[in-house]
Amino acid sequence: MLTSSARKRALVIGAGPMGLETALRAHTRGFEVTVLEAGRVGEHIRQWGHIRLFSPLGMNVSAHAKKILGESLPPLDAIQTGAEYVATVLEPLAQSEVLKDRIIVDRKVVALARAGLGKMGLPNHPLRTERSFRVLAEDHAGSEHVYQADLVFDASGVFAHGNWSGSAGMPALGERKLDQRIIRHPIDVESEAARFAGKKILLLGHGHSAANTIVALARVQQRAPQTQIIWAVRSDRTKPVSEVADDPLHERAAVVDAANALALHPPENLRVLRRATLEELQTVEGSNIIKATLKVWKTSEAIEVDEIISLTGYRPNLDMLRETTVEFSSVTEGTRGLHKALSNITDCLAKIEVNPNDLQSGEPNLFIVGVKSYGRNSGFLLQSGNDQLDAIFAALM
Ligand SMILES: Cc1cc2nc3c(=O)[nH]c(=O)nc-3n(C[C@H](O)[C@H](O)[C@H](O)COP(=O)(O)OP(=O)(O)OC[C@H]3O[C@@H](n4cnc5c(N)ncnc54)[C@H](O)[C@@H]3O)c2cc1C
Repeated sequence: MLTSSARKRALVIGAGPMGLETALRAHTRGFEVTVLEAGRVGEHIRQWGHIRLFSPLGMNVSAHAKKILGESLPPLDAIQTGAEYVATVLEPLAQSEVLKDRIIVDRKVVALARAGLGKMGLPNHPLRTERSFRVLAEDHAGSEHVYQADLVFDASGVFAHGNWSGSAGMPALGERKLDQRIIRHPIDVESEAARFAGKKILLLGHGHSAANTIVALARVQQRAPQTQIIWAVRSDRTKPVSEVADDPLHERAAVVDAANALALHPPENLRVLRRATLEELQTVEGSNIIKATLKVWKTSEAIEVDEIISLTGYRPNLDMLRETTVEFSSVTEGTRGLHKALSNITDCLAKIEVNPNDLQSGEPNLFIVGVKSYGRNSGFLLQSGNDQLDAIFAALM
C-alpha cells in the first residue's frame, strides 16, 4: 500500500515535463507543492532543443496539462523540436496560475534523507514513515538551501550523466582525465558549424541521440566537404541503428533510416567503424588534438581527432538518494519494481500494466518518476510517464 499523507508538503525535483506534470497532479490533490530545478524549466530538453521529438505533441502532454494550455497548444499531431516543446508547453505550464509561484530555479538537489534518519535508521519501521524529508539543495553560487517535505518526487532525469565510452561501460584509459574535452550530449553541430566544419570528429554510439547527430554532421560535411567524420559503433550490423518494424513514430523511423543509409553508403570523408570499442584517449602534446585508440574487431586503430562526441546512453545520478532506502534494479538502475514490470517489454509504445506496488521506490512517500524511473532503459516515453503518474496519484488517494 502507498502511504497517504495527512500532511501536505510535496517536493518535486526537476522542472522537466514529468516534474511539471507531477506538480500539477500534486496541486490538484491538495498538496502544497514546491518544485526545485537545477537549471531552467525544461533544462535537459533545451540542451537538445534543435532535435525533433519523435512522438507527436498529443503523446507528450497529459489531459490535465492540455486543459490548462487550452487553445494556445499547437495541433496535437505536431512533431515539435525540443525548443518548440519547451516554448509552447513547458514554459506556459510553468507560468500558469497553478505553478507560477511554486517553481524555484537554480536549485540543484544534492542530497535528501528522512529527518534525523540515514539509510539504516529504523528500517521497515512505521516510525520511519512518520519522519518528513530533509532536502539539501545548492544554487550556482554554491549557497546551500534546506527544504522540508512530506512527499518527494524525484523527476531529475538521466540526461546530465552520459555513460562512459569504453568497453563494458567502463571509462576508456585516459577518458576521465579528458572528460571536459568530450561532448556527451547531442550538440547542435549545425549551429556550431564554426567549431565542427573542416574538423576531424569522432562520434561514438548508435542510439537515437547518435543517429540524430550523425545525420546533422553529414549536413555539416556537405557544406564543408573537408570535414572528416569517424562514426564508431559497437554493433556489427550493416545498419547499426536499431529499427522498429513498421514504426508508427514516423519521425523516429526517418532519423533511423537516414542514419543507417549513411552507414550503408558513407559519403567521402565519413568512415564507419563497426565492432569498435574505445580503448584509450591521449592528448597530442603541444596541440588540441586527441589521439583515440580503438579496437575495431580484432585490430587496433589510432586516430587523431579535433572533437569527440560520445553518445553511448545515459544513466541516473543515484548519489542524492544515497541515504534513502530506494531499491534500484541492479540491471537498469531504475526502480526495482518498475524494472521487473518492464523486463518483458520491447515496444516502448506498448501499454504497460503497472501494479501500483511496482511504483513504490522502497522508501515510503518517495517516488522516482519520469525517465529516471527507467534508469538506463532507453524505452521511456512521456506518455508512459503520465500513465505512471496517474497510477501513483490514484493510489495516494
Ligand atoms: C534526443 C532525445 C529525444 C527524445 N525524444 C523523445 C520523444 O520524442 N518522446 C518522448 O516521450 N521522449 C523522448 N525523449 C526522452 C526524454 O528525455 C524524456 O521523455 C523527457 O525528457 C523526460 O522527462 P523528465 O521530466 O523525466 O526528465 P528531464 O526532461 O530530463 O528533466 C529533468 C529535469 O530535472 C532537472 N534536474 C536534474 N538534476 C537535478 C537536481 N539534482 N536538482 C534539481 N533539478 C535537477 C534537470 O535540469 C531537468 O530540468 C528523448 C530524449 C532525447 C535525449
